Amino acid sequence: INERAVVTRFAPSPTGFLHLGGARTALFNLLFARHHGGTFRLRIEDTDRARSTQPAIDAILNGMRWLGLDWDGEEVYQFARADRHAEVAHRMIEAGHAYRCYLTAEELDAMRTAAQAAKQPLRIRSPWRDRTDWPADQSYVVRLRAPTEGATTIHDRVQGEVTVQNAELDDLVLLRSDGTPTYMLAVVVDDHDMGVTHVIRGDDHLNNAFRQLPIYRAMDAIEGGWPDPVYAHIPLIHGSDGAKLSKRHGAVGIEAYRDEMGILPEALDNYLLRLGWGHGDEEIIAREDAIRWFDLDAVGKSPSRFDLKKLEHL
Ligand code: GLU
Repeated sequence: INERAVVTRFAPSPTGFLHLGGARTALFNLLFARHHGGTFRLRIEDTDRARSTQPAIDAILNGMRWLGLDWDGEEVYQFARADRHAEVAHRMIEAGHAYRCYLTAEELDAMRTAAQAAKQPLRIRSPWRDRTDWPADQSYVVRLRAPTEGATTIHDRVQGEVTVQNAELDDLVLLRSDGTPTYMLAVVVDDHDMGVTHVIRGDDHLNNAFRQLPIYRAMDAIEGGWPDPVYAHIPLIHGSDGAKLSKRHGAVGIEAYRDEMGILPEALDNYLLRLGWGHGDEEIIAREDAIRWFDLDAVGKSPSRFDLKKLEHL
């Protein structure tokens, strides 16, 4: 169905250490790409300047190398691409798929209060959608002119078919008033420019897919060559008690498994692989076999449970 050579990516935000969920996402992306003879890329999403740190970048790179999650080519740093992100936003304005919005903080507050009073989520369709009387000396944000009618359906390789009514979406911000790109815009532009065909990531990003697809579709209408990616949103890893995985469950940065628990990378890889994916009753799966056997259809839909004791027994 997808004729393009497979390209996957792992796109961590360097705001903390590489944790188990991230490592497993990276592993699945690597295996899927290798299985299809494709390419596995790494992108450091360091757009959030206040929260991104060099120690976190180092921990991600070192953790991935230690686990043998070898990416192809140079890693891409998202912040360095801000001009390209802005360029795409401005092309979208010129083509009428995005607009300059001059809503003031007070006007936004009033909209928020009205939405709360009506017990509705805040969905911004700004009056600036159709205005061109732009004030000369006032800063603006760039908003997507999101579809308001119909529905958007994603054929997710793990979640199945998921549909959202477009009336439930809003005109999300693409560029902030200081001209910097938002996460939604940066991810789409980078995935497109890196040739990413398959977006495999945690299912906490499923909602974002509905905000990202309209950006692909707008750019595809403008210049062509921006096909929808194939999405696969994988369930998060939970603790053995079923709650969201946290430090309390023994979930720590990858380096702690290496330095403090003395776990071998092959053991951790194998454990992560089998959290949410399986091949018959195989317990120990070598990397070559994992590459040969890996497919998204065998990724479960429910959260997997992490059990530190089992890992320590490996
Ligand atoms: N940077 C995002 C995160 O670390 C991931 C973005 C994506 O995979 O699309 O959660």
